[in-house]
Amino acid sequence: MTLGGGQAAALAPSPSAAADAPAGGPIGAPIVRLAGVGKRFANGVTALSGLDLTICQGEFVSLLGPSGCGKSTALRILAGLAAPSTGTVEWTRDGNSATSRASHDIGFVFQEPTLMPWAPVFANVWLPLRLKGVSRAAARDAVMDALSLVGLERFVDAYPRELSGGMKMRVSIARALVTQPRILLMDEPFAALDEITRQRLNDDLLSIKARLGTTVVFVTHSVFESTYLSTRIVVMAARPGRILETIDVDAPLPRDQRFRTSVLYNAICEETSRALLAAIATAGDSHL
Ligand code: ADP
Repeated sequence: MTLGGGQAAALAPSPSAAADAPAGGPIGAPIVRLAGVGKRFANGVTALSGLDLTICQGEFVSLLGPSGCGKSTALRILAGLAAPSTGTVEWTRDGNSATSRASHDIGFVFQEPTLMPWAPVFANVWLPLRLKGVSRAAARDAVMDALSLVGLERFVDAYPRELSGGMKMRVSIARALVTQPRILLMDEPFAALDEITRQRLNDDLLSIKARLGTTVVFVTHSVFESTYLSTRIVVMAARPGRILETIDVDAPLPRDQRFRTSVLYNAICEETSRALLAAIATAGDSHL
């Protein structure tokens, strides 16, 4: 992954992110707070109950838990794609409360790249800006900067069918970053990729986060991935979906291959694994 180059330098950190959290640095002020959030679907399923979760500027928070524990529902509520049945979602901007986020506050990356197959890479990354009325010409620098961040500026004219799975996911990440969101929400983005591609994308994601100061909330099933990436792991249990345990990952940033083979990494993986097994046990059976 290439992070160098003049175009990448032009994609500056969003002003709020830059002010609150130097690259890979200290955790800043709260930006969104879920308080007592519950979600009951029309079919009677209680996906979430009493969820209290505050996300602070500069954090990398992983939601880890067995299938059905409400990870995606929590992410969708954060994104405004679903409304909570109970509780509140409070956004904070410049220290002040806001009942809703600004539309550009969020970038969302789905498990599938969800690219438009008929459109080249440029048009796929331009899409969020185009929906805001930004012309192709006006969007060009931002699109090229986002593609440069994920190392794909040379593929600007390629079609999705010409790209590998990892490259498609990079385009999806560039599309999420093109609006310079304060918070990047990622729903198991690397689950379908092979192990080597997944590790490379993990490293690239940490580099991008350090460079832009973006806050990340990341849904995963993987103990190893959550330990490698996170500053905090929120372990959730099902029936109803709730937080069982929170693990602070007090390992220095930046992280690299040495961290993956360190005693500290192994110790945190062990702790996280134990918490995940406890979460599975509370449901009485395995959903993995
Ligand atoms: P996870 O992401 O942890 O696998 P989800 O948030 O997708 O869990 O789902 C939590 C629970 O809510 C599951 O039991 C799931 O079947 C249910 N669920 C999710 N979305 C809907 C929906 N739109 N309608 C009804 N039930 C849903």
